[in-house]
Amino acid sequence: MNLKALLERPAIDVESATHPLPLAASLNFDVCVVGGGPAGVSAACAAARMNKSVLLVERNGFLGGALTAVTLGSICGLYRNDGDTYVQLVGGFADRLMQCLNSLGSQYEPLRWLQAVTLPYDAFAMRAALDALLVESGARPMLHASLLDVEVQAGRLNGVIIQTSAGALRMQAEVYVDCTGDAELVARAGGGFEVDFENLQYPTAMFRLGGVDHAAAKALSRPELHRILEQAVDTGFALPRTAGGIFLDHEDHAHLNITKVSTSTGAPPNPLDWSELTEAEIEGRRQILQYAKAFRKMVPGYSNSYVLDCGSSIGVRESRRIEGRYQLTAEDVLASQKFDDGIALCSWPMEEHGRGRSTKWIWLDEGKHFEIPYRCLLPQGLSNVLAAGRCISTTHEAQASIRVTAQCFATGEAAGTAAALALQDDVAPAEISIQRLKDELHLSGSLPHL
Ligand SMILES: Cc1cc2nc3c(=O)[nH]c(=O)nc-3n(C[C@H](O)[C@H](O)[C@H](O)COP(=O)(O)OP(=O)(O)OC[C@H]3O[C@@H](n4cnc5c(N)ncnc54)[C@H](O)[C@@H]3O)c2cc1C
Repeated sequence: MNLKALLERPAIDVESATHPLPLAASLNFDVCVVGGGPAGVSAACAAARMNKSVLLVERNGFLGGALTAVTLGSICGLYRNDGDTYVQLVGGFADRLMQCLNSLGSQYEPLRWLQAVTLPYDAFAMRAALDALLVESGARPMLHASLLDVEVQAGRLNGVIIQTSAGALRMQAEVYVDCTGDAELVARAGGGFEVDFENLQYPTAMFRLGGVDHAAAKALSRPELHRILEQAVDTGFALPRTAGGIFLDHEDHAHLNITKVSTSTGAPPNPLDWSELTEAEIEGRRQILQYAKAFRKMVPGYSNSYVLDCGSSIGVRESRRIEGRYQLTAEDVLASQKFDDGIALCSWPMEEHGRGRSTKWIWLDEGKHFEIPYRCLLPQGLSNVLAAGRCISTTHEAQASIRVTAQCFATGEAAGTAAALALQDDVAPAEISIQRLKDELHLSGSLPHL
């Protein structure tokens, strides 16, 4: 059967579905979360904790999204840098996750990096911890399952069609949460979204090197590394980026965030186009080989290094952003703006991976943070859908700040909690009591009193 025919097969009727979902007696749920990245797992756990039946649909065979598929150096956005000290801005799900990681022996301490404080993590422990948290919450994971289509009537989502190895399944819920990163659910359902293909942040293929002499690598300052990599460019290495993030991890390993993938015209690849994404994946691995060679030849501490592994997919920083009831802006970020419906805190800088060989950072002052309003989670045109994670309603500039992991945990927890409250009160997510939502988030620790 060819691909077109496969995709056009009629959805299997719920009652006659032959594919046995784990534990599933029914394919009707209170809440359906699509996308099992940091926002999705947090959303699913929050709704399940409030005694809602929850389905989490994820196209990979594991949870964690970019955290585990792309692999990141560390969790950003958890802490506000207050100079000599730092303050935790996101708790709740993030706290439970950290406990779980620690219980697996994956104990990391907050790390000062540039002007920020981040938390390194182990990618395998992260997968295992997210499995454990989701299962413990009672939410039902559905892995290797991709959103294929939607059923919408008058702005209300009535069902989703999920592609599985056993064909298409129709799943139903009262409230849906789009945590796909790409606002895939909102876009398919006809909700509002924006995407600026000309100015998208560039993607990166992450990789690890083994055989690194940590002592020599640690002695190298960031400006010195930048200078050496610029020299490498002058001697013929085609390195598109000469300032990146390097985390020295486990004996002789280094995790590198340094490639920068573009199309042959120099433009950012379209992450919603399978053809450009395919080229980007191949180009990312080609760049990894180039960087590995340049590091071996030119960078102190790396002369015996080799590529240990790379992420299972390229890291996409930005694609669609929903059009919500409020759009967070750069001005809000820089003014440390607070909102009556603020449901998450953030102090991460606007970190822009745009054109050129460097990354642009616009920092908030020490001790400052802004709030993310609940309205940024409510897509225009859809009455029973919320969004969380990197695709919430912001401008391109503000997205460069709120897209980091801790804020995805926080907006996910807010969306899952809001979905549960909407069901409890039998109202649309846009009509819930903001005070009750904030009370729940204060109680869980996701929204600290600061
Ligand atoms: C290269 C790179 C480096 C980064 N570095 C850091 C860093 O060091 N620290 C940090 O904190 N943050 C970092 N980030 C940002 C952060 O990783 C992401 O922005 C964050 O993971 C977004 O979370 P999310 O849950 O919104 O989306 P994602 O993490 O993208 O998760 C979305 C999930 O939805 C699933 N999905 C998508 N479409 C479908 C579908 N149709 N059906 C079913 N499932 C679907 C995906 O498989 C995925 O699991 C980085 C990002 C990139 C790309």
